[in-house]
Amino acid sequence: MPSSQELRVLFITPEVFPLCKTGGLGDVSAALPIALRSLQIDVRLLLPGYPQVLAGVKYKSKVAEFNELPQFPPATLLSARLSLSKSEHIPVFVIDCPGLYHREGGPYMDALGRDWPDNALRFGLLSKIGAILSSDASPIAWQPHIAHCNDWQSGLTPAYLHYHAGKKAATVMTIHNLAFQGIFPPGSVVQLGLPPDSFDINGVEYYGNLSFLKAGLYHTDHITTVSPNYAEEIQTESLGFGLQGLLAGRRQHITGILNGISTSEWDPATDPHLAKNYTNKKLSDKAVNKSTLQQQMGLAVDADIPLFGIVSRLNHQKGTDLLIQVAPQITKIPAQLVILGSDHAELEHQLTALTQTYPHEIAVRIGFSEALSHLIEAGADCFLMPSRFEPCGLNQMYSQRYGTPPIVHATGGLLDTVVDCTPITLANGSASGFVFYPMTAENLLNTIKRAATAYHHKKNWQRLQKNCMAKDFSWHTSAAAYREIYLSLLP
Ligand code: ADP
Repeated sequence: MPSSQELRVLFITPEVFPLCKTGGLGDVSAALPIALRSLQIDVRLLLPGYPQVLAGVKYKSKVAEFNELPQFPPATLLSARLSLSKSEHIPVFVIDCPGLYHREGGPYMDALGRDWPDNALRFGLLSKIGAILSSDASPIAWQPHIAHCNDWQSGLTPAYLHYHAGKKAATVMTIHNLAFQGIFPPGSVVQLGLPPDSFDINGVEYYGNLSFLKAGLYHTDHITTVSPNYAEEIQTESLGFGLQGLLAGRRQHITGILNGISTSEWDPATDPHLAKNYTNKKLSDKAVNKSTLQQQMGLAVDADIPLFGIVSRLNHQKGTDLLIQVAPQITKIPAQLVILGSDHAELEHQLTALTQTYPHEIAVRIGFSEALSHLIEAGADCFLMPSRFEPCGLNQMYSQRYGTPPIVHATGGLLDTVVDCTPITLANGSASGFVFYPMTAENLLNTIKRAATAYHHKKNWQRLQKNCMAKDFSWHTSAAAYREIYLSLLP
């Protein structure tokens, strides 16, 4: 049995920061492997060769050809290096398959927001090569002990491995968001080279279709998800998205491990995207970021008015509809709102319309901007995250690190990471934000009002900010928990 120093892990993921990121999975796919590598685990990434991945990795060299997988176009496997900073590097394998990945647009959708019609093949190939590299059929010498799959896009890896008769790695499947399941018509099963009898309730079938995620959850050796609270919630009807039965049946094999954050990428003392860097010793410097943000976004520049920030996908999960409902009343508190995000076209439209009615109080930027997201974390007084469900959530941790207490609905990882501010929690030093339940527009508005009132008690507010900034959200503990799971799966 290898010690953790000899452990080899293939981390299979459809996105990685900074090359390709649509949400938290991109951040985690960079930060967790870095943390595992600092524990001396030999983690390597397996990624699809989108144009930005091929352009962004260094020292590419060809290590294998896959020209004879009957279901897929020809592909080349490259070995390369992803550098995150001067001292942080991750070895990566990139699948260069021009027929599936050489195109403009996002990883899952085209520029108009339509799913790529060949997503089953795009991520079938990722899963398939993940399985080959994790078995004795691999054409390369480096062989992992563990195949660590992430979300539906790599969900078929455990299924392909299940049907491989030879030696193979153990598998871990991490659920970053159970709402995305990779569902395709039944004909895809044979198209993707799975045996016809795999299309069964005890296999890859899910209510008459193929589900990549179900296939992974059914066949994997161990399941993890990104917070302890979400690990419980997904076993219930309200948040199980139809998979609660399967998950409850596998509860002995499910572990909730809280995501960490990259404390180098998200550090107010050094963040290059800020107007002024600051630490908890000199919070007055944070104010420069507020005025810069107000100015940049065309809001009234006013140090006293509480400013609420949002960086989010704009959709039902994230509670954008409720926020829109209460936005006019927020302006009357008085308070300001800055929103960065995109997703649901109608919600984007409604938010933009609000800025016309309240040009000095509400500012919206539709789109994706890493730089603005950092400035909002620093410049806002409070961060808003009224998600209906949230597997872990990263922004509420970023905001605490930036001394910007979050307002969150009591769900998933939000409940695991934010402590409601009350006289008791403020006195004992644990308060770090504002938590509401249940999820109604009225509760959201009342909590925003509660935070706005608290904001005007400067001494207490600073205490709250300092509590936030003192919290440790690094990957240290969580990476060690993943190591324990890897080690427990070795023969
Ligand atoms: P999810 O993965 O469900 O979208 P998380 O809170 O786990 O939510 O992670 C979201 C990540 O994506 C964070 O790093 C957040 O800052 C980033 N993000 C989301 N929308 C945008 C945007 N419009 N511009 C920049 N970053 C964004």
